[in-house]
Amino acid sequence: LRRNPGEVEFHQAVREVFESLGPVLRKNPQYAEAAVLERICEPERQIIFRVPWVDDTGRVRINRGFRVEYNSALGPFKGGLRFHPSVYLGIVKFLGFEQIFKNALTGLPIGGGKGGSDFDPRGRSDGEVMRFCQSFMTELYRHIGEYTDVPAGDIGVGAREIGYLFGQYKRITNRYESGVLTGKGLTWGGSLVRKEATGYGSVLFAQSMLGTVGESLDGRRVSISGSGNVAIYAAEKAQQLGGRVVTFSDSSGYVVDEAGVDLSLLKEIKEVERGRVSDYIARRPGARLVKDGSIWDVPTDVALPCATQNELTEADAKQLVANGVRAVAEGANMPSTPEAVALLREAGVLFGPGKAANAGGVATSALEMQQNASRDSWSFGHTEDRLAEIMVSIHDNCLATADEYDVPGDYVVGANVRGFTQVADAMIALGVV
Ligand code: NDP
Repeated sequence: LRRNPGEVEFHQAVREVFESLGPVLRKNPQYAEAAVLERICEPERQIIFRVPWVDDTGRVRINRGFRVEYNSALGPFKGGLRFHPSVYLGIVKFLGFEQIFKNALTGLPIGGGKGGSDFDPRGRSDGEVMRFCQSFMTELYRHIGEYTDVPAGDIGVGAREIGYLFGQYKRITNRYESGVLTGKGLTWGGSLVRKEATGYGSVLFAQSMLGTVGESLDGRRVSISGSGNVAIYAAEKAQQLGGRVVTFSDSSGYVVDEAGVDLSLLKEIKEVERGRVSDYIARRPGARLVKDGSIWDVPTDVALPCATQNELTEADAKQLVANGVRAVAEGANMPSTPEAVALLREAGVLFGPGKAANAGGVATSALEMQQNASRDSWSFGHTEDRLAEIMVSIHDNCLATADEYDVPGDYVVGANVRGFTQVADAMIALGVV
């Protein structure tokens, strides 16, 4: 705490992992001897830089850029960029720390990192976003590369931003190095299924959890928060599996649509028009917008928090349990507070933590890197099959690890222990570096 003052989200993420590790450390004294815990908390490299740009009125603006290269024991640093006014070092470090273990769980050769800026893309013109991205990359380019560090998207960074970032990287370096960024557009090195992968993967994880108790999503009510990339494709997969998605949200409120969300309307509003959830209400009879209160008050069988950190509180968890929720799978990173997680686990709710449940996005990013390296592009069906295999294997590995540590069905311990041991073993093998 003293080394990282004020970084509350980072402290929360570290504590959450360390709370699972007692039995692992007792069983494996080599981890303490090699100071793995101390080393794993300290990023290999942290870069903070000025991002100057000019807005449409000619005014000079200054934002702060970050890239935290956390751990490269398993492969090049890999993790998204977040553009949101709340971004500061503590957020980037929490996300980077989570990313180390998530990436290990995928079984693919990727290390952990994260980055972003306190730039707010909302309400900015395409030209402003482009100039910001170009300025951001003018510093970032010297730190990244297909064998070094491979950023992707996150909140506020989608295909448009990745395009501007990639364009500037290509221009500065004079290299068409497709593998330097993932989440690219399909005509310039992107992978089919990457856009869908995080949301699809979270729902596949929920389906696997329900399968362990002989249940499925078919005919179930599903509540989703957020209305961005993860939320939209979680809704799509939930509907494909027979679920009825009754909610989504943004920071202005949440929508309840008892008839089941009209996904093509939602995509039109969010992906084409870059609109708000209130635009949905105007065009969808029967749906209502709730501005106060919590989305988790709406009775549901399966809850998928897909917006942001700490959005599902202890009170929300209590309400979900009272309403008979069966499963919670985290599409977002750390969306449930520690108190909410404890309550859901004690109540016997199937609980899939983000680092396992939302790993499908980064896994498909690694598949994008494979396609770039072999100058190939795979079909939608093949890529989705690979994603589904990876999600099932993450689920099964978490479950097997929970069994091994005598906490059957505890996906939190399963994910933390499995992810940690993969990275710790590699760190020891590579020596004190
Ligand atoms: P987007 O920017 O596409 O969407 C974020 C959504 O969450 C928006 O609808 C946004 O609404 C909403 N939101 C943000 N903050 C709040 C808030 N405080 N209250 C209510 N709604 C809010 O981001 P993504 O969908 O890509 O990311 C969502 C989450 O998933 C993040 O936690 C991210 O780290 C995680 N994640 C993303 C991956 C990916 O592949 N994209 C991979 C793994 C995890 P508004 O527009 O009003 O801000």
